[in-house]
Amino acid sequence: MEAPNVGVLRSSVREFAEKRLKGVAKVIDESNRVPEDVLKDVASMGYFALRVPEDYGGPGLSVLESVVAIEELSRVSSAVGIMATVSGSMVPYPIATYGSIELKEKYLSLLAKGGIGAFALTEPCCGSDAAAITTRAELDGGEFLVNGTKTYITNAPYADFFIVAVRTGRPEDRHRGISLLVVDREPCVKISKLEMLGYRGSGTSEVKFEDCRVPRENLIGELGGGFKIAMMTLNEGRITTSATALGIMQAAFEEAFEYSKQRTSMDVPIIEHQMVQYLISEMAVLLETSKLLLYEAARKADEGHPDYIRYASMAKLYVASRGVDLVRMAMQVMGGIGYSKESIVERLYRDIKMVEIGDGTNEIQRMVIVRSLLGRIRPK
Ligand SMILES: Cc1cc2nc3c(=O)[nH]c(=O)nc-3n(C[C@H](O)[C@H](O)[C@H](O)COP(=O)(O)OP(=O)(O)OC[C@H]3O[C@@H](n4cnc5c(N)ncnc54)[C@H](O)[C@@H]3O)c2cc1C
Repeated sequence: MEAPNVGVLRSSVREFAEKRLKGVAKVIDESNRVPEDVLKDVASMGYFALRVPEDYGGPGLSVLESVVAIEELSRVSSAVGIMATVSGSMVPYPIATYGSIELKEKYLSLLAKGGIGAFALTEPCCGSDAAAITTRAELDGGEFLVNGTKTYITNAPYADFFIVAVRTGRPEDRHRGISLLVVDREPCVKISKLEMLGYRGSGTSEVKFEDCRVPRENLIGELGGGFKIAMMTLNEGRITTSATALGIMQAAFEEAFEYSKQRTSMDVPIIEHQMVQYLISEMAVLLETSKLLLYEAARKADEGHPDYIRYASMAKLYVASRGVDLVRMAMQVMGGIGYSKESIVERLYRDIKMVEIGDGTNEIQRMVIVRSLLGRIRPK
């Protein structure tokens, strides 16, 4: 059973999502953007600042509470859900955990006031091989001069600032030559929106940094220490990104189950056919097992459990791959209408696939799980 505070949070986010997002989820997907007034309302609820501590004016949610909030947003609009994941979890985490007091005061407070952040690691050259990034930051007096291109960056068109992984050392130093900087959007960041299959509206973009002058004080942690922080950020991100999949799975299950009770074939509702019962029961089990594993990973993250990195990867691998299976089954239950734009399942089918790729592919999660089992990964 859910703790009372988590239950209250779930109901309030569900109410918001039903009232404010349900009517626009299709528009967000079709137009590939979130309308300005919707963005403002989501921000005013604190959903783009979920993990910002109360000391800086944020909601100060735990990882588990953030998962529940993101799950409920994503049940209605996974685009808004993934935006909350990035701005509310993956952006505050490195600043709150490794940033200076000044960075916390400036950027965590900005998020709490409705600002939006983005996390920029992936480049055209390299996603899984993050230690090979080429975006450069040269120290020039009291500033870094940043040049390079990032790609597939969520939130980019809406973002006030970016957390950017940059190379401050030599390429051959790989992960040891990488640092993390906070870069303001103005005046030098150029954004080109990409046309993606799913999570449309979340602003997935190519982001170019052209001679961006960034104060030295915007360094998060130590010079050359950014790779470890980026990886720790991805560990939390794997849990909160998987929460979007949980919301998608819940929505697909509800849609297919309702349909199976209404639709008749051979004189009975299709739910009375054993083979449809097989699909519905399978979906119910996948949904519940996904919730159990993801909530357990979130609890372990909140406790700072030594095995939480493995749990984050196990949960992401399971939820992503079984989520794809669940939505495919939902479409099967619904027949032709599930494959048409008349049904939300068509969008959910496009959306869920991303979770097998973003924040580390399934293959990378398997690698992390085995490295952890071999005792080669430990959180700091
Ligand atoms: C919608 C969307 C939103 C995203 N948002 C962000 C964001 O906000 N910020 C950000 O920084 N990035 C973001 N990404 C990028 C995402 O994290 C990368 O796409 C992902 O890490 C994979 O990198 P890649 O696309 O370069 O694929 P590659 O790394 O080129 O991988 C291609 C294939 O090779 C496999 N592979 C690669 N290396 C290995 C290996 N060592 N062992 C086994 N298999 C391997 C992969 O598993 C995959 O199957 C987003 C991506 C998408 C699709």
